[in-house]
Amino acid sequence: MEEHAPHSTDGMSPASTEADPLLADLTGPQRDAVMHTEGPVLVVAAAGSGKTRTITRRMAYLVRCGIPPWSIMALTFTNKAAAEMRSRVMELLNADPRATRGLTVTTFHSLCARLLRRYADLAGLPGLKADFTIYDSADQASLVKRVLESAQLSASNWPPRTVLSAISAAKNELRDAGAYAAQAGDFYSKTIARVYAGYEKALRAANAVDFDDLLLLTARMLKENAAVRGECQRRWQYLLIDEYQDTNRAQFVIASLLAGTGDGRRPPNICVVGDPDQSIYAWRGADISNILDFERQYPGARVITLGENFRSTAPILSVADTLIRNNKQRKHKDLFTRRPGGERVQIVLCQNEQHEATLIVDRFKALHSGVEERGEDAPEGGLPWREMAVFYRTNALSRVMEDAFRAAGIPYVIARGTAFFEREEIKNALAYLRVVANPADEVSLLRIINTPARGLGDSTINAVEVYAAHAGVPFFEALRQAPRIVGISARARGSIQRFVETVDGWTAGGSFMGEGVSASLADLVERVIKESGLEKMYQAQAKAARSETDAERLDNLDELVSSARQFELEYDPTGDPANDVEPAGAGVPPGGAPPPLLSLLRAYLESVSLVADADAVDPSQGAVTLMTLHAAKGLEFGAVAMIGLEEGLLPHSRARESDAALEEERRLCFVGITRAMRHLQITSAKYRTHRGLMERTIPSRFLGELGRQHVIVSDQSDALADLEETEWGSRPAGPDRALPARAASPLSVKFPIGSLVRHPQFGVGKVLSITPGANARAQINFRDVGTKTLVLSMTRLERIGG
Ligand code: ATP
Ligand code: MG
Repeated sequence: MEEHAPHSTDGMSPASTEADPLLADLTGPQRDAVMHTEGPVLVVAAAGSGKTRTITRRMAYLVRCGIPPWSIMALTFTNKAAAEMRSRVMELLNADPRATRGLTVTTFHSLCARLLRRYADLAGLPGLKADFTIYDSADQASLVKRVLESAQLSASNWPPRTVLSAISAAKNELRDAGAYAAQAGDFYSKTIARVYAGYEKALRAANAVDFDDLLLLTARMLKENAAVRGECQRRWQYLLIDEYQDTNRAQFVIASLLAGTGDGRRPPNICVVGDPDQSIYAWRGADISNILDFERQYPGARVITLGENFRSTAPILSVADTLIRNNKQRKHKDLFTRRPGGERVQIVLCQNEQHEATLIVDRFKALHSGVEERGEDAPEGGLPWREMAVFYRTNALSRVMEDAFRAAGIPYVIARGTAFFEREEIKNALAYLRVVANPADEVSLLRIINTPARGLGDSTINAVEVYAAHAGVPFFEALRQAPRIVGISARARGSIQRFVETVDGWTAGGSFMGEGVSASLADLVERVIKESGLEKMYQAQAKAARSETDAERLDNLDELVSSARQFELEYDPTGDPANDVEPAGAGVPPGGAPPPLLSLLRAYLESVSLVADADAVDPSQGAVTLMTLHAAKGLEFGAVAMIGLEEGLLPHSRARESDAALEEERRLCFVGITRAMRHLQITSAKYRTHRGLMERTIPSRFLGELGRQHVIVSDQSDALADLEETEWGSRPAGPDRALPARAASPLSVKFPIGSLVRHPQFGVGKVLSITPGANARAQINFRDVGTKTLVLSMTRLERIGG
């Protein structure tokens, strides 16, 4: 690869390129992508070939070339990736924070949330105000339920999730309720259209949007409002997009409108990178044609491929390649690495999920202690925990793994960034904060109006709702007018008044100005937790301590305060398109700047709403990461274990629907494999508990598609842990070829008759007899489980005496 002459857009000689820290350790094609700074650039390249690295370098390079940072925007797939990219750019530019002031590195959803806030008033979106709330799926479900109720549709015939996914699919294709209704022909879609319209109305009344709205409304705003579009295009003249293969229709439109068509003389500076083989979000509307059509969309685009893989060893790459070749709908790309060696990929067939977890824990322990770390570029000693990860297809598979790691005392983190914010106490506290930021947010208001209990029952709430609907005022406004509402007891009225006064106290009646308003976001959060009565309520629960969860709730609330404090410390308004600070002239958002506390609160609530599972990946914690395959996109680990390679799990049962869905599952498997740098273990359990029942599984078809050359299959699915010939991995001829690199025979010497041994699963036992040879077996009498015959090379025996 290095023989490509470095591209010299800026007239640099190859020699100076070699000395340039931003360019020196890039391949020719990578340099091309970095230095081709004007005009559209498309990088289509395989996993681990340096696409993300190229984007990061390109950003630093642009800044160094004198392009104002505020005119550069990079869009990544997760907040975590965005944060990493930003700090990497800073590092590359010698950590001078001023050098990157105003640089926008964000996700599509965050960008849209901020653009909508900034331009809410200009955008002509009926009912949308800058303080809108972003509803998560639970909020959406409760809203849809209310809409179904009022339309007299039963939730059992019209499951909210199903209805919502139809609405979501429509929004991702940029079809709003009106467009949906216009196309609805049959009873089913006409009904969905009706619910869609009701749902939209309810969202707008609550001054709320859902995730899909963020994209849909922004796309519409950029399309319809030339002033907003012009302002954005003038600001961001350099657009960079990672993981472009996973953009959906709405994101494609947004990217195209932001890039524009250039200024007449020059085409737009849009640089996208992606890999069609890693497209894993078609089920959420991602459209691979966005990347495939790039050249058509931008004629004259510079197209660059990066052939070399820098991440994985040859066996891992080869296994990935063999698998993905089974996809028919693809254009082949060669994957190659120049690094020699590397151990083979291990496929282990195990008995059940506990056995699977034990095997992985054992393997990780061995890697950590350094026993298994081999190869030319293996680090000294063992592999740190943070460089290991377990991937699974669905979150349900994490529990048994977690138990095993906990029991073994190995630090682990589950990449479920959303989990914290799904806890009851956190949702309650956030609901208060959302009402503070947006009093029209009815879903949040209904959540907290009687939490903690303040004597406001269903009949009171009903009366307020009816009043609000009749008077055409938001629910919170109706609460203010409670004295006028008939059918409310005097006690309830007093209680409502106190509630309203409390909320008003935090915001100084909604002005967020003057005395009595907290100085900082963290103070506000603390006050809200106290003065709402939540703290007292959970203190009482903790005293009664019915469960561990109850006892933890106060700690979690403290943690929320800390998270607000950290957010406040790290918040950089200059990188927030909602507070456009540069260039001069665009200083204040239309409608005037909101009070600082309110804009901080909005930004905080927004960050909480847009948190993703992958955001919880934090190598600095020094722990093994457990995560879904989807969340693993873009990451890399020294050692990876992929579990649950069984039909119905991976490929997921959803794949039965179509060949396209099956190919997407295969790509997902490919994404998992290509995260591994040096060690990859893939497991499949013979039995797995499904809904409380132990079921016999069918091994994933993907196992058979991994090729035989670079894998070692170890069948331990029999309780005797005997070596079986398997359909896809029968032992090749010759003594030890299919066995792990450890020679088998010395093992029989290591465990002489009469020695005491420990087996990870069967416990302590005594060796009764040994059958030496390539597949040396030992007959062992275990204290707890009786006599078993084990193939020594396939079991992890430890001699403990005798
Ligand atoms: P994915 O498709 O999985 O997102 P990618 O194409 O974005 O992968 P990167 O994550 O950018 O690939 O790079 C993969 C690994 O290779 C990283 O560890 C990166 O630092 C390293 N790498 C990339 N290019 C080079 C290079 N020219 N020299 C040395 N290492 C490199
Ligand atoms: Mg990448």
